[in-house]
Amino acid sequence: DYILVTGASGFIAVHTVLAFLDAGYRVRGTVRSKSKGDYLVKLFTAKGHQGKFDYVLVDDITKPNAFDEAVKDIDAVAHLASPFYVSGVKDPQELIHPAIEGTVGVLKSVQKVNPKIKRVVITSSFYSMINMDSNKSPYHYTEKDWNVDSPAHVEKNGANSYGGHSYAASKTLAERAFWKFLQDEKPSWDGATINPPYVIGAILQECETPEKLNTSVAIFYQWAAGNRKEADLPGAPEAGSWVDVSDVALAHVRALEVPEASGQRFSTSAGAFTPQDYVDVLHKDFPDLKNVPVGKTNAHDEYTKDMDFVDGSKAEKVLGIKYKSFEQTVVEMCKSVRERFGF
Ligand code: NDP
Repeated sequence: DYILVTGASGFIAVHTVLAFLDAGYRVRGTVRSKSKGDYLVKLFTAKGHQGKFDYVLVDDITKPNAFDEAVKDIDAVAHLASPFYVSGVKDPQELIHPAIEGTVGVLKSVQKVNPKIKRVVITSSFYSMINMDSNKSPYHYTEKDWNVDSPAHVEKNGANSYGGHSYAASKTLAERAFWKFLQDEKPSWDGATINPPYVIGAILQECETPEKLNTSVAIFYQWAAGNRKEADLPGAPEAGSWVDVSDVALAHVRALEVPEASGQRFSTSAGAFTPQDYVDVLHKDFPDLKNVPVGKTNAHDEYTKDMDFVDGSKAEKVLGIKYKSFEQTVVEMCKSVRERFGF
């Protein structure tokens, strides 16, 4: 089969393309520039998949019919293209508009050009599930939960919205639009969503400088590069649930393969963490790194016991995902950013 992966140049998407190629599929990616596409062709060729990956340019996912070319001859779609940043948001619409239009745009192109496809999986987020204002911690999140706080926050605060809520609203409203499309249009194909928490792990995407790192790895980079202080620990605002990027990638593959995934959400989550867990691994496995705060070693249980918890067991059961350990994930992530940026 031939799979379309949108936003193929992104952190999670590069791993997702690779997971599809490793599973024997052919893949077409959408990218915003030729240079990003060429980088990917080289990367996947070097990984033994010569001639199995091609790309098309979709420079603006909000344009009507933007994906018409991309969906031709495709058997299934994994839609990952969506803006992900939480700081410097001037207006929530800069995130919400492309998130919704990108999602609905792919679905419309599929319906118009290639309605015979089997399934569409979209990368939603745990931000579509969590209620930052109204839930009392520690809350046990499952796929039944929906974020109602962020769309309400954005509606009320407009351009003054908190960046976290703006991004969360973009993911929530895009996922809502996805399920609504399936309900209203009743296509012959079906859908599933992957709702990961903090995705971390090795970077494969093109990235020349640390400033260009994707949001979730950029946070880790600050700790590894020695840009954080003792006073920043335990670092509650950056704590949450986590998952390895290759597990999220495999979840996309399985969500398109497993019949029972039809119509389902999957919160791929391996467990809770705080930045204390980052620095513990850094000191153990990379003792030569300078200026990494020490904090309180091995305080994982103490720091996470009252935190919200995102349940990842459904993805284990239905999709057969076996989550990587936190230590292995952080070691791979750290090696990859050190190799890239030489610190
Ligand atoms: P990246 O920023 O690395 O990837 C985002 C991708 O979307 C890139 O390919 C980017 O293209 C593309 N993109 C962003 N904005 C636009 C736009 N306006 N028009 C067209 N394309 C756009 O982040 P991730 O890999 O982390 O994110 C991938 C998906 O996973 C997103 O949907 C994100 O919301 C979701 N997600 C991420 C989590 C995480 O912790 N990383 C957790 C949960 C969900 P370009 O390379 O050209 O900039």
